[in-house]
Amino acid sequence: MTQAELSRLSGLSRASVFNIVRDLTDEGLARVTTTTRNGRRVTEVTLNPDAGIVVGVDIGNRHVRVAVADLAHQVLAEQRVALPLGHRADEAIGRSVGLVRRLVRQADRDPDQLRAAAIGIPGPILAGAGRLGTPPVLPGWADVEVGAAFSDQLGVRAVVDNDANLGALAESAWGRGRGIRDFAYLKVSTGIGAGLVLNGQLYRGAYGTAGEIGHTTIEEDGAVCRCGNRGCLETMAAAPALLELLRAAYGTLTLEDLLRLSADGDIGCRRVIADAGRHIGVAVANLCNLLNPGLIIVGGELAAAGDLLLNSIRESMARRAMSAAERTADVVTGAFAERTAVLGAVALALQNADASDAQTNVPAVRTSSPKAELAG
Ligand SMILES: [Zn+2]
Repeated sequence: MTQAELSRLSGLSRASVFNIVRDLTDEGLARVTTTTRNGRRVTEVTLNPDAGIVVGVDIGNRHVRVAVADLAHQVLAEQRVALPLGHRADEAIGRSVGLVRRLVRQADRDPDQLRAAAIGIPGPILAGAGRLGTPPVLPGWADVEVGAAFSDQLGVRAVVDNDANLGALAESAWGRGRGIRDFAYLKVSTGIGAGLVLNGQLYRGAYGTAGEIGHTTIEEDGAVCRCGNRGCLETMAAAPALLELLRAAYGTLTLEDLLRLSADGDIGCRRVIADAGRHIGVAVANLCNLLNPGLIIVGGELAAAGDLLLNSIRESMARRAMSAAERTADVVTGAFAERTAVLGAVALALQNADASDAQTNVPAVRTSSPKAELAG
């Protein structure tokens, strides 16, 4: 962007923008180039890709995915490796750190350039502690200080967040939530969680467990949930519940089987997904009444069902949300499919790289720079 554009969008005076840009270039965080636009000479400001790198790590039940990005928000290298189901935490952390080192080399960067790391883990995270809350989604990870473990091995600050919050950050920085002040990202997969962006900021709540929409009560006398409650949304609409519903008629299916059969028009599979959407819509309607988000972004593996899922969420919302709250909230699928959590982790790491810059009195670089674009 030009300095004039930065001034207009930020509401700061041209003199302030000039001073801030000068400080950023002095720190090596930004670059200024003179170019010609429509016959006029203009000064363009870009983030300096050589200023440093960050790393994002997404850990799941059966995989770890790592992405290395520069401070200009470009992904330089990214890879996913499989993990055995029921893996131990130290095993997964070791594999992740090895992958980080390999990708940094592959990106042709010096490990000393690493500024921050962020790790995504499914399920609630205790704020501050950087370890999993209850109920843990990854059984081998209870009581592990994940942030400290990564920080020790990588030698930089490492922050931890859950995959639904990271989904919200990825969509906010580069995806469908860009420029939207209030929205909810819904992850529908083995579990169901929400990442809430309120007033342009990720909302984590007092103890870091905000957004556990999967544990909204849908049926008071329903099945007992892993959280101890009964009739939670997860017991009715998360992947294991859907596969269980189909078992008597279809035998043992995987989530991939369910999505494939449904795409092929199988009536039973389509019914199960549509019913899940209806239940999710009840919880989302309550969310809309409470927080009035401008957009609902649906991600996670089940989002691959597309309009079959989304339409039944919309119908259920239309029936149950206050009309004023429901009317404004559009329901869309996420932008990044299986890359969502790792991109969210990169966005979180970039925010933390900014925070360390702030200690040297340099104003923070906005994560959602309009210049930001991800490779791949
Ligand atoms: Zn529950």
